[in-house]
Amino acid sequence: MSIPIYTYDAVIVGAGLAGCAAARELQKAGKKVAVITKLHPLRSHSGAAQGGVNAAFSDEDSIELHEFDTVKGSDYLADQDAVAFMCEKAPETIRWAERMGAAFSRTPDGRIAQRPFGGQSSPRACYAKDRTGLTLLQTIYEQAHRAGVKFWDEWYAADLIYKDGKVSGIVAFNIRDMQTVIFNAKSVMFATGGYARCFKINSNAHANTGDGLSIVARHGLPLEDMEFVQFHPSGLSGNGVLISEAARGEGGKLINSEGERFMEKYAPNAMELASRDVVSRAILNEIREGRGVGPRKDAVYIDVTHLGKDLIMERLPELRDLAITFLGLDMIKEPILISATAHYSMGGIPVNIAGNVRKNNDELIEGFYAAGECSCVSVHGANRLGANSVLEALLFGRFVGKTMVEEIDNITLRPATQEDAKVALDEIDFILNNNGDETVTGLRDELQTCMTENAGAFRTKELLEIAVEKVKELRQRFKNIRVKDKSKLFNTELQEAIEFGHMLDYSAFIVESAIARNESRGAHYREDFNTRDDENFLKHTMAYMDKNGDISLDYMDVTLGKHELKARTY
Ligand SMILES: Cc1cc2nc3c(=O)[nH]c(=O)nc-3n(C[C@H](O)[C@H](O)[C@H](O)COP(=O)(O)OP(=O)(O)OC[C@H]3O[C@@H](n4cnc5c(N)ncnc54)[C@H](O)[C@@H]3O)c2cc1C
Repeated sequence: MSIPIYTYDAVIVGAGLAGCAAARELQKAGKKVAVITKLHPLRSHSGAAQGGVNAAFSDEDSIELHEFDTVKGSDYLADQDAVAFMCEKAPETIRWAERMGAAFSRTPDGRIAQRPFGGQSSPRACYAKDRTGLTLLQTIYEQAHRAGVKFWDEWYAADLIYKDGKVSGIVAFNIRDMQTVIFNAKSVMFATGGYARCFKINSNAHANTGDGLSIVARHGLPLEDMEFVQFHPSGLSGNGVLISEAARGEGGKLINSEGERFMEKYAPNAMELASRDVVSRAILNEIREGRGVGPRKDAVYIDVTHLGKDLIMERLPELRDLAITFLGLDMIKEPILISATAHYSMGGIPVNIAGNVRKNNDELIEGFYAAGECSCVSVHGANRLGANSVLEALLFGRFVGKTMVEEIDNITLRPATQEDAKVALDEIDFILNNNGDETVTGLRDELQTCMTENAGAFRTKELLEIAVEKVKELRQRFKNIRVKDKSKLFNTELQEAIEFGHMLDYSAFIVESAIARNESRGAHYREDFNTRDDENFLKHTMAYMDKNGDISLDYMDVTLGKHELKARTY
C-alpha cells in the first residue's frame, strides 16, 4: 500500500514554545505550515516551566548586565554574538507575549514583576506565579491556532528526509493507528525539546527522549556540546521532580544535617543564588561528606517557612502542591527534602543565530532549521542560567520562524518518493517483529542508572569509561528486544522502543564528548581535571555518529566578544 504524501510549505516538529512561536510567524506570512507533535501541544514540557523568563527592563538592570551574567554563567563557552542577540531582543519578546495575552504577575504599581534567579546581577525573571511556562504556552498555542496553523497532535516524527545535503520533509506516523505519512516540504524545523530522560533522577517529562537529536545524528550530521548536562539543585528527593529556582529566588535557604546554611562555604556572596552547577555540586558534596538528611541521608533541606503562608500561596503554590503530593511535606510548615536532578541540556543540533542547521563547522543545510532546547545556538555554553531557556525557546522560535519566511521562496520543493519512508518503516517493522529476550523497560532502567552513576554532576575518566562501555553493550542488546504488544492501536510499547533507540544514540554523544573534555567547565565537572583549561578546551565539541553507532569528535571555535575571560566566582 502506498504511503500518502502531504505537501506543505513548512513542517515543524514540536509544539512547545519554540515550535508554536515559529509556526505562528510562518502562518501569519501566508505560508502553509504543519506542526507535528507527539503530545497534545499543551502537554509539551514548556508548560512545566515554573520560575520565569528573563528580560532586562527594570531601572536597575541593563541588556549589558544580562549579557555579562549569561556569558559568565556559561563559563565563557557561549557564543557572544548569539548571547547579545538574545539579550537585546528579550524585552520586546516579553512585550510581544504580553500583547498576545500572557498575563504576567505584577508589582503593586502595575509593572511586570521580576524575581531574582541564580547568577543574575538584578531581579530579571518575569513570571506568572509559578506557572510561567504554562501561561506562555497557552497564549502562543492559542495565537498559532487563531492564525490557522494546522496541528497534527499525537503524530510521531520518525525520520527526516535528507538527501544530497538537502532536507525535503519528514516521515511521521499517527500514534493512534500507526498510519504512516510523508510530509513533503520546502523547509523543516525541529523544535523537539530537551532530553534529560536518559538519567534516572531527572526533572523532565516522559516525552523528553531526544528524538530530534538522534534522527539528525543518524543522517551523519553533527551534535554540538553534548557533554554539558545541567543538574538543577532542587529536585524532590527520590524522584527529581522540580522545585523551581523560584523557591531560592524568593529566599529559600539550603540546610544540611548539622543545621548549617552550607552555601556560605561554597559561594559566600551569591549563596543559594550562585549558578546552578555550583549549587548542585555543593549539595552533592554535603551529601557525599555525610551531612545529608532524610531517611537515606541523600538529600538536603530547602527551607522557605520564614516566607510565611501568604507569600508562599501567592508566589509558589504549585511548588507547595508538588511537595505535598510527592513527599507529604508542606513547605509552609516545614523544610522539604531536595537534591540535584538532571534538568536541562545545553548541547544539541548546531545552528547559527538565524536558526539554520549546520552540516559541519563551515556549511549550513538548505531548508533545515532548529530552535529551543533541542538546538545549540549556543547561548548557554557550558551552563544555562535559570529563566534563560523559556526565553531562548520563545525568542529563537519566533525569529527562526521569520528566517524561514525570508528564505522559503528561494527554496525549490524536491518531490518526495515512497522510498523516503523506508528507514522509518523498517524500524517499525524490526521492533514489532523482532523476537529476542530483552525488554525496553529493563534496558532503559540500566541506561538511566548508568548515566546517573557515571555521567552525573561529578565525572572522572574511569566513571565515563564505564558509561561508554555500558552504552555500547546496551546498543548490542537492543538488537535483541521483543515487544509484547503487536497491535497498531496506541502501541505505546512500540513508541517507547523507538524512543529508547534515540536515548541510546544521544547518550553515546554525551559520554563520548565528556570523556574527551579533559577540563571542568560549567556543568561538566571532571574530578580528575578540576579546573577550566582555556588553552585546550575553549571550543565547542562537534560530534558525529557513523552507521555502527561509533562517535567521532571534532571541535569548533567559540565566538568571543567584549566579555573577557575571567575566573568564575560567585
Ligand atoms: C520542570 C521544568 C521546569 C522548567 N522551568 C523553567 C523556567 O522556569 N524557566 C526557564 O527558562 N526554563 C525552564 N525550564 C526549561 C524550559 O522549560 C525548556 O527548555 C523549554 O520550554 C523547551 O521548549 P521547547 O519548545 O524547545 O520544547 P518543549 O516544550 O519540550 O516541546 C517539545 C515538543 O516536541 C515534540 N516532539 C518531540 N519529539 C517528537 C517526535 N518524535 N515527534 C513529534 N513530536 C515530537 C513534543 O510533542 C513537544 O511538543 C524548565 C524545564 C523543566 C523540565
